[in-house]
Amino acid sequence: MSLYEGIKDVAKVVQKADNIDLYRQLLDLGQQALDMQEEIRQLKQENYELKKKQDVESQIERHEQPYITLKNDNQSIIYCSACWDNNQKIVQVRCDGNGRFKCPICNNEGIYNEEMSKKHYEKMTAIMGRGYNY
Ligand SMILES: [Zn+2]
Repeated sequence: MSLYEGIKDVAKVVQKADNIDLYRQLLDLGQQALDMQEEIRQLKQENYELKKKQDVESQIERHEQPYITLKNDNQSIIYCSACWDNNQKIVQVRCDGNGRFKCPICNNEGIYNEEMSKKHYEKMTAIMGRGYNY
C-alpha cells in the first residue's frame, strides 16, 4: 500500500467517526508525509549526482596544459579542464594532429603533445624560410 492510499483509508475511518478536528489533523499530517516523501526523492537524486561527480573527480588526472585525462583510460582521451572546472562536464577536445587541442564548447586551447607541436612549428618555419629564399 502506498503512503497516499494509506492516508486515504485512515481518512475514511476518521470521517465515519464524525470528528472534524481529528479529520483536519489527519489531512495535515498526510500532507506533511507526502511533502517528506518528495523531499526524500529529491535528496536521493542529489546524492546520486554528487556520487557520480565524486566518482569522475577521483579518476581525473591534471596536466600542465589546460586539459585532463581519466585514469585507467587505455585510449587516453583528452578532455577540457575548463569545462570540468566550470560545470563538471566531461567534454572531449579536438586534437589537430600537430600536437594542439581545442575545446568545441569553450574554445579553451593548448598543447597536448609538446614534441608534435615543436616538429610542426619547425616544419612551418622551414616552409616559410624556403619561401623567402626563392
Ligand atoms: Zn571547454
